[in-house]
Amino acid sequence: MTLNPTADLSAHVQRGLDDLKALVALQSVSAQGRMLGETAAAVTALLEAEGFTVRAFPGQVAPVLVAEAGEGPFTLLIYNHYDVQPEDPVDLWATPPFELTERDGRLYGRGASDDKGEFISRLAGLRVLKEQRGGRLPLRVKWLIEGEEEVGSPSLEAFIAGHAAELSADGVWWEFGSITPEGRPVLYAGLKGIVCLELRCRVAASDLHSSNGAVVDNPLWRLAAAVASLRGPDGTVLIPGFHDDVRPSSAADQAAIEALPGQGETLRETYEVTRPLGDPGEYHTRLNLKPVVNVNGFHGGYEGEGSKTVLPAEGMVKLDFRLVPDQDPARVVQLLRAHLDAQDFRDIEIIELESHQHPARSDLNHAFVQTAVRVAGAVHGVAPILNPSSGGSGPMYPFMQHVGAPVIALGIGNIGGRVHAPNENILRRDFENGVRFTAAFLAELADGQRSA
Ligand SMILES: [Zn+2]
Repeated sequence: MTLNPTADLSAHVQRGLDDLKALVALQSVSAQGRMLGETAAAVTALLEAEGFTVRAFPGQVAPVLVAEAGEGPFTLLIYNHYDVQPEDPVDLWATPPFELTERDGRLYGRGASDDKGEFISRLAGLRVLKEQRGGRLPLRVKWLIEGEEEVGSPSLEAFIAGHAAELSADGVWWEFGSITPEGRPVLYAGLKGIVCLELRCRVAASDLHSSNGAVVDNPLWRLAAAVASLRGPDGTVLIPGFHDDVRPSSAADQAAIEALPGQGETLRETYEVTRPLGDPGEYHTRLNLKPVVNVNGFHGGYEGEGSKTVLPAEGMVKLDFRLVPDQDPARVVQLLRAHLDAQDFRDIEIIELESHQHPARSDLNHAFVQTAVRVAGAVHGVAPILNPSSGGSGPMYPFMQHVGAPVIALGIGNIGGRVHAPNENILRRDFENGVRFTAAFLAELADGQRSA
C-alpha cells in the first residue's frame, strides 16, 4: 500500500467539508431546473483549481461536464452528478436542507450523500495524492459529472456514445457505494436493467351500469388475468423466451453471492415484511442475479367510499421489469407483446415509460475490480463486501459498452443515509475514509496496474 492508512489527513478532510458545505448550499434541484448552471460553474472551479481541463456540453436539463488531468499509465474515468432531489417535505428536516450541519458524527444536507459528498470525498482524496507526489497526479483522471441524474440521465447514453474516444479509460468508478453500520464497504460490480410500462385496456367509450357485466367484458378482469399470466407463484417470470438471453452467472459471481452476509433479515425486519418471496437462502441470488417483474399499481373503476355499481370503460396497470445481463429492454417489450397476443390479450395496449436501462455487470476477477477490493479492505481495516450486482438500476451499461472498461461502485453512503428523503446524511467517519480510500486507490492504480 502506497499510502499510510493512519496518515493525518485532517486538514484535507476539513477543506473537503468546507467545499461540501458550499456545494450543498447551491440548490441544484434538476427536477425543478434550480441553480444548475451555478452549480456546474462551482464544480468546474473546484476541478480547475486541481489542474483539470473542464469542458461543458449542453444537456437536455443541465450541462454535462467532462474534466481531465494527470498523466500516467492508467486512465480512470470517474462518474458523479451535481444535481439533487427536491428537498420536500421541508418541515420534516431537523435542520435547513441546504445548510450542511453536523450532529452526532453525521453531516446532514441535501446532496451530502447523493452525490455531492461522493464527489467531494474523491476530490479531497485526489488532493491528498497530489500532495504526496509533489503536486503531480500520477495517472490520467477523466471525470464525467452530469446534472440530470435525478431526472433519469436523459442525455447520458447518447453523450457517452458520441464521446466514446474522449472518455476511453481502463476502469470506471461509479457515482455511489455504501458502508455498513459496522464500517464494511460494500462494492457493486453491476446494476440490473429496467423497463417501465403501462398496460391499458378499454372496452367501451364510457363507463356502463354494472348489470352489463353479464354481456360486456370488464377491463379490470382482463388486466388481472393478463398480469396473472406473467409470473408464477414463486416469482418466476413466465413470458416465453424471457430467460433466453440471461447470461449464466460466473463462478466468481456465485462465490461472491455465497459470501454476502445475511439472508435478508434486515429488510424483513425494517419493513415488517409478512410475505417474503423465495427461501431465505436464495435471497441474494434472487435480489442480485435474477430478473423480476413487479406490479407497481393497478387502477380503474370506482375507488371511493361505499359502493358504486359500475362497469369501468378502462383500466390500467403499471409494471416494471428488473433485468440481468444480457437481457435487452426492447426485446423484453417484444416478448411481452407476443405473450399477450398469444394469450388472446391483443386488445391490451403496452405503453413504454421513460428511458429503459440495460443491465450491466463487470468481471469480478478483473484487476481493476480486485484493486478496488484490496484497497478498500486496507483502508477500512475490514474485508469489503463485493456484490456482483445491485438489485437496483442505473445507466452503467453505456459506460461498459462505449468506454469498454469494467465499472466498480464504491462510495460513502450509509443505510440510514435517507437519500432522496428529509435529513439526508453521511457519517463523518465514512467521509474521512472516502478521502483516504480515494488517495490510496488512485495511487495503487497509478503504481500497481498497467493499461490493458
Ligand atoms: Zn439520487
